[in-house]
Amino acid sequence: MIAALRRRFPRLVASPAVRISMGMSSLIVAILLAMDLAFGLLPDHTLLVRKTRERIAENLAIEAASLMGSGDVLRLGLAFREQVARDGTILSATVRRSDGQVVTHAGEQTAASDAQADSAARVDHFQVPLVSNGQPWGVLDVRFESAAPRGLRGWLTHPPVLTVLALGFGSFVAFFLYMRRVLAHLDPSTVIPDRVRSAFDVFSGGVMIVDTQSRVMLANAALRGWMGATDTEKLLGRAVDSIPWFARALPADRDAHPWVRTVASGMPVEGEHIEFDRNTASALKVIANTAPILDGVGVVRGCLVTFDNVTHLDILNTQLLASMTELTQTKEEVERKNEELLRLATRDPLTGCLNRRALFEKLDQLFVDARTAGTPLCCIMTDIDHFKSFNDRHGHAVGDQVLQSTSHKLGGGLRDMDLLARYGGEEFCIILPGTTLAQACAVAERLRSDVELLAGASIRSTRDLKVTSSFGVAVLTADIVDPAELIDQADQALYAAKKGGRNCVRTYEAIAEAS
Ligand code: GH3
Ligand code: MG
Ligand code: MG
Repeated sequence: MIAALRRRFPRLVASPAVRISMGMSSLIVAILLAMDLAFGLLPDHTLLVRKTRERIAENLAIEAASLMGSGDVLRLGLAFREQVARDGTILSATVRRSDGQVVTHAGEQTAASDAQADSAARVDHFQVPLVSNGQPWGVLDVRFESAAPRGLRGWLTHPPVLTVLALGFGSFVAFFLYMRRVLAHLDPSTVIPDRVRSAFDVFSGGVMIVDTQSRVMLANAALRGWMGATDTEKLLGRAVDSIPWFARALPADRDAHPWVRTVASGMPVEGEHIEFDRNTASALKVIANTAPILDGVGVVRGCLVTFDNVTHLDILNTQLLASMTELTQTKEEVERKNEELLRLATRDPLTGCLNRRALFEKLDQLFVDARTAGTPLCCIMTDIDHFKSFNDRHGHAVGDQVLQSTSHKLGGGLRDMDLLARYGGEEFCIILPGTTLAQACAVAERLRSDVELLAGASIRSTRDLKVTSSFGVAVLTADIVDPAELIDQADQALYAAKKGGRNCVRTYEAIAEAS
């Protein structure tokens, strides 16, 4: 049975409190049984039953003698039946005359026997002689239920057995409660030999051993040193979370503590970060690792906890993180500055278009690409008509707005791959890679229309400004030797557009043909 209990409740049976309590309660029961054998300590249940039944039989005999004396046989029968019904242990009650004739009978029909001989009958069957006027005239025969217990339940509730069981169980419970208390207060440090404790004291990290109830069985020198003197007093045997130093650092939920998790699951827990408050500027930061301590049959009996001090590492880490953040910010700032510089170096500040230098840099590459791939390349030169008059009539600021508005409309009508540069005061150069002359003329016509319709209208400060531009278009031909020549041809076409009445598009091809 112990083996079965051990399999079913391994932790309970392995508990020293349970083992000691079981041993002591068994001893008490054994002593009691021995004393009973020697001195008859337990009350004789059979004797008690017999005496009670004898008294019942005698009372019935007195009643029978009294009623028979008054000749009331009917009432005697009634009285007997009532008594048998009331007392569940009486099987039958019979009054017989000396000649064997039955005067009255109540209860079961039982065979008449004088089984006084056997010991059971002395408790279950009574015969009381009936006397009238000093003369015996009959006998009262009373039969009772068997006094011997029947079945398991009968045995278990049989007073002597019940006494032994109650004493055994009661003493076990009392001993268990007492032993549990006593064992908790015994110095648990005795469980761990001195040399083991000294070995743990050598470690620079913290080491703690706890039992299954999370009570401290061992705390090495490093851990005690971290804790400080107050909390180190009476450390052993105390629940970890009842030690203030730990209580301040651990989560309120006990089940979340790493050693509780290890005891519950039998599995190690690794890399648990804990921050201990040590009344200084910086907290003590540790990483806790746990491992279960198993007994011979694989039952978890405790937990080994190690604490690695990572405070210094953490400080370095924080510093490193701060430096990296600073570095990232600096890098972003440098990148932003570089972008700004690039923008200043390549863009016209008023219109945001490419400046002449950037235009030629990019055009050189497009020129080479077009030559290599044999793809078409067109250049459009455009100049705002009578721009000087905007300055003269409305002031320089409005002139600037006309420049901005026109460049905005030009840029809005181009692809990402096209180039738009401010070439001179109010002169812009557009480069269209992969575009034929016809397509470039169509683009120029569209841009001309956009400027005419939208550029003046979008200047809100001065109403009804009529802004127009003239356009000259040239395509890269085989005889053009460099990008500047292409631009020059477009410029010549622009000149022709100016001469041709402004707000129109002219091509270099047409001029060349005409000349
Ligand atoms: P046309 O139709 O023949 O091109 O006549 P136009 O008046 O546009 O040409 P012109 O070359 O006579 O005038 C250009 C004027 O542009 C002269 C100059 O004061 C002005 N200008 C050049 N750069 C700027 C600038 O950045 N802002 C402003 N507001 N005016 C500028
Ligand atoms: Mg002009
Ligand atoms: Mg001009």
